[in-house]
Amino acid sequence: MDSLGILLILGLAYLASKSTESTSNNSENSVAQINSRLLSQVNPVLAEKAQTVINQMANLGNTLIVAEGYRTNALQDKYYAQGRTTPGNIITYKKGGESKHNVGKAVDFDFIIDGKQSNSNSNNWTLLGKIAKSAGLIWGGDFKNLRDYRHVEI
Ligand SMILES: [Zn+2]
Repeated sequence: MDSLGILLILGLAYLASKSTESTSNNSENSVAQINSRLLSQVNPVLAEKAQTVINQMANLGNTLIVAEGYRTNALQDKYYAQGRTTPGNIITYKKGGESKHNVGKAVDFDFIIDGKQSNSNSNNWTLLGKIAKSAGLIWGGDFKNLRDYRHVEI
C-alpha cells in the first residue's frame, strides 16, 4: 500500500482530531483524550477490546493512538477513489458502506514514537497483532488481499 498516501490521510485525520481537542500541553493526556473520543464513536464491544489492546501495549512500553474508528460512507468512497479515479495507490477494496469502519466495528491504530504519530514499518505491528487477537479482535495484518497492520475489527 502507499504509505505516503496513508500518512497524508492520517496526518489530516490527526490534525482534524487535534483541532477539536481542548488545549492541553500534556501530550499523553491528548492521546488519551483522542482515544477516548474516537472509541466513544464505535461499537462498545469493539471499544472495550481496543482499550484493552491500548492498555496492554502501554504495559509493554508502547503508546498507541486511535487513528480512525467510525468512518462515514462519504469518506470511505474517497478512500476507494484513491488509486482508481484520484492519485495514489489503492488503499482499500471497500466502497462506502462496505467497510467495518462504516458501521463502527473497526479501528486503526498508530504508534506514538518520540511524541509523534507513526505508522512506520519499523513499529512493532506483530506485537500489536498478537495482543489484538488475544483480546478477541480480528487483525488486519492477517488479511490476504491487502494486509492492514494498523487495523482491528470485530
Ligand atoms: Zn481500518
